Amino acid sequence: MLLRHTPEAMTERTALTVNPAKTCQHVGAMYAALGIHNCLPHSHGSQGCCAYHRSALTRHYKDPIMATTSSFTEGASVFGGQANLVESINNIFTIYGPEVIAVNTTCLSEVIGDDLPQIINKARADGKIPPGKTVIHANTPSFKGSHVTGFANMTSAMVQYFSENTGKKLHQVNIIPGYVEPSDMAEIRRIAVALGVKSVLFPDTSGVVNAPLDGKFHLYPKGGATKEEIKNAGDSFFTLALGRTASLSAAKLLDTKCKVPFECLDLPIGLRATDTFVDQLRKTAGVSVPESIMTERGQVVDVITDMHQYFYGKKAALIGDPDQLIPLTQFLTDLDMDVRCIITGTPAGPKFVRRIRELVGENTVVKDGLGVDMFQFHQLVKNEQPDLLFGNTYVKYIARDEDIPLIRMGFPIYDRVGHQYFPITGYRGALRLLEKILNALLDKQDRDAPEESFELVM
Ligand code: SF4
Repeated sequence: MLLRHTPEAMTERTALTVNPAKTCQHVGAMYAALGIHNCLPHSHGSQGCCAYHRSALTRHYKDPIMATTSSFTEGASVFGGQANLVESINNIFTIYGPEVIAVNTTCLSEVIGDDLPQIINKARADGKIPPGKTVIHANTPSFKGSHVTGFANMTSAMVQYFSENTGKKLHQVNIIPGYVEPSDMAEIRRIAVALGVKSVLFPDTSGVVNAPLDGKFHLYPKGGATKEEIKNAGDSFFTLALGRTASLSAAKLLDTKCKVPFECLDLPIGLRATDTFVDQLRKTAGVSVPESIMTERGQVVDVITDMHQYFYGKKAALIGDPDQLIPLTQFLTDLDMDVRCIITGTPAGPKFVRRIRELVGENTVVKDGLGVDMFQFHQLVKNEQPDLLFGNTYVKYIARDEDIPLIRMGFPIYDRVGHQYFPITGYRGALRLLEKILNALLDKQDRDAPEESFELVM
């Protein structure tokens, strides 16, 4: 048992983090950048950072994730990375030919204080950026945020660099889908299409990190939001931002820069959050909800009604990204489950805690911030003895140690497939979540059942 020395008694810790409940800003920024069509993410720092971030995404998606690096050595670390970045931009456009290079900083270049806009301007002045091509950047210091913060920063950079208000309003809605899987982005778009809403979805990693194997190597797969689409987002009549931590900053910037009003909703995870999303789309675009979507909703309600006895009173412990934790908590409490602790390593702020408290009251442990870690989560699990855990792959050690079923959610998931292809958002995603929860609970029940109550029919 790997974690058998984790003590049950909890003491206040301020100077030490054990197994952080987050990863680098850069991972999220790289992932968001992959949601631009024909874009090569670039890591402005040393090779080690880029290698780690690429491998994290590659392991999660089981597809080779492409990214380049400024390859800092001692010289750049002392004198700054300008020469490295200008040279990199030249090499990347010459050798790999992307439409867009999306540069994100690392801890090292942030500490040095490299001025990215100035360096990009210099590269342009030196003729290193071919006509029609673009270099964008986001500042992503990992000592100041998590992968979700990095995703938010790169999404805002897309608005900053591309979106324009031409004065000619287009009858389309922007959807900023937040830090979700490509399968979820596709599902969110599918719902908008089913409602007959013309939308611009960005970033959009569907068809990029889950592209099909067709026997050929595609450096730039077919998916991703185009530069043109993100530019036109400045002429949309409304923006729906999904998930406050990952999407609000981009929506606000679109409003300030291009006068596109917005609404920020929870990610459509579970029944009620999906209802809110569908209803907001309906109201915003002045459309009706089609029968097909109502059928999907009815199926979710049917399963909840049929299986309520298995959900009722079951205790859950959650660790993950704040934008997912809010609607997940709402969904679980709607199922009459008892959510005992909710933890995120992303600094999500008092609004996150307030939202969670509205859903679960004062008796549940709620923590956010860079100091929050897996060790703490394990201690809480020991104290609360939940029936079910929700979290990423790293939680499997705790799940094994405590013999509690784990539902894998969030980032990273290194040891399963499915998250790339099957959504947890929308009504179909809610059905999938219900199935996963039920299977986990019933598998354990079957495993532990004495012979006389080992049931064939549930
Ligand atoms: S924490 Fe900073 S230095 Fe370490 S891998 Fe992440 S970006 Fe690089």
